[in-house]
Amino acid sequence: MKKISVLGVTGSIGQQTVDVICHHRDEFELVAMSAGKNIELLEKTLTAVDTKIVCVIEKEDALYLQNKYPELTVVYGEEGLDYIATLPEVDVVLNAIVGFAGLLPTIHAIEHKKDIALANKETLVVAGHIITKLIKQYQVSLLPVDSEHSAIFQSLQGNKGNKIKRILLTASGGSFRDRTREELVGVSVKEALNHPNWSMGAKITIDSATMFNKGLEVIEAKWLFDVDYDQIQVIIHPESIVHSAVEYEDTSVMAQMGTPDMRLPIQYALTYPKREVLVNGESLDLISLGSLTFKKADFTRYKALQLAYHAGKIGGSLPCVLNGANEMANALFRDGKIEFLQIEDLVEKAMENHDVIADPTIEQLFEVDRWARNYVLQQIGE
Ligand code: NAD
Ligand code: MG
Repeated sequence: MKKISVLGVTGSIGQQTVDVICHHRDEFELVAMSAGKNIELLEKTLTAVDTKIVCVIEKEDALYLQNKYPELTVVYGEEGLDYIATLPEVDVVLNAIVGFAGLLPTIHAIEHKKDIALANKETLVVAGHIITKLIKQYQVSLLPVDSEHSAIFQSLQGNKGNKIKRILLTASGGSFRDRTREELVGVSVKEALNHPNWSMGAKITIDSATMFNKGLEVIEAKWLFDVDYDQIQVIIHPESIVHSAVEYEDTSVMAQMGTPDMRLPIQYALTYPKREVLVNGESLDLISLGSLTFKKADFTRYKALQLAYHAGKIGGSLPCVLNGANEMANALFRDGKIEFLQIEDLVEKAMENHDVIADPTIEQLFEVDRWARNYVLQQIGE
C-alpha cells in the first residue's frame, strides 16, 4: 500500500487524483487531504474515499468538520498543512495547491523524506534552485504531474545516461490561440476561461490564455530536467495530443501522446515505474484525428513567453517576481479590475523594477513574492 497525502484535494487536479485513488484502492491509501474553503466539495469527497486526516484553511470550518465527523482528525491553517505534508506514515505527498502557497508544504515534505508528486509548478518556478538541492540532499523522488513534464519524463524512460539535445514543449495555445494580438483588446473573463482542450482551475486557465502557463512550464522543465533555456523550444500544438517530446543527440525524437486526460500523468506519478489501467481512459484514435498541427510560438504574439525566458535566464529572484506579479494580475483580471493585456504589462513592469537577488533564501523569496504582489496593486491604485 502506498500511503498518500493530497494537498489541494478540492481542486481540479485534487479531484482527479481522488478518482485515480478510488480506482486503485488495493494499491493506494489516502491518509490525509487538504482543502481550501470549499467545504461542501470536501464533504462530498469524504463520502467517496476513506481518509483519516483533513486540513482546511479556516478554523471555523475545522470546528464544524470536527464536530460533524468525530472519527476524523481535523487540522487547519498553515500549521495544519504542514502537519499533513509531513505525517510519518505518508510515502508520497501529491501537491495540487495552486500558486506560491504550495512552496512551503513541498519543502517541509521533502525535509521529512516524502516523495513528491508535483502539480504545483509554482514551487519550482520560484525556488527551483532550492528544491533541486533538497531533493538530492534528502534522496527523495520528484515526480512531475504537469502533463508536458510527465510526457518528457516518460520519453526519458529507458534512456541510460544519453544527453538530451532539446526539449519540445507543446502548448495548446489556450482560449485565444486563434486571435491576433489586436483581437485580445477587451476580451472578457468568460471568454478567457473557455479553454478548448482542458478543464482546469481558474488560475491556470487564465495562465493558458496569456501563455504565462507555458512560461512557468519552461522554468519548471529547466529545473526538472537540468537543461539550459536555449534547449527548450515551445511549440503551439492546438490538438493537445503530443504532450511534449525529447530530442536526443542523434536527432531521434521521443514523444508521449494520448487523449488529453490529466488522470494519466497523475496516475503515472503515483504508480511509477509501473503502468496501470486508466479506468475509463479513452484510447487515441489517430485515424479519426487525421492530422496533427504545429506552429511557432511567437514571442511578439506571446509576450508572456518572452518574459518567462528572460526571468529564467537571469534567474535568482526574478522568476519569483514573474510568478508573484502574475498571480496577482491574474486574480485582478478574474475580479474584473484590469484588462487582459494589462496582465503581462504589469508583470513586465514588476520585473523591470526589481533588484535581482542572485541566490535567494526561502525568507527572501517570501519578501520578493510580497513585494511583487504589492507592486502590481500599487500600479493599479489599489
Ligand atoms: P484549483 O484552483 O482547481 O485547485 C487548487 C486547490 O488548492 C484547491 O483545493 C484549493 O482549495 C487549494 N488552495 C488554494 N489556495 C490555497 C492556499 N492558500 N492554501 C491551501 N490550499 C489552497 O487548481 P488546479 O487547476 O487543480 O491546479 C493546481 C495546481 O496544479 C496548479 O499549480 C496548476 O498550475 C497545476 N496544474 C493543473 C492542471 C490542471 O489540469 N488543472 C494541469 C497541470 C498543472
Ligand atoms: Mg501543463
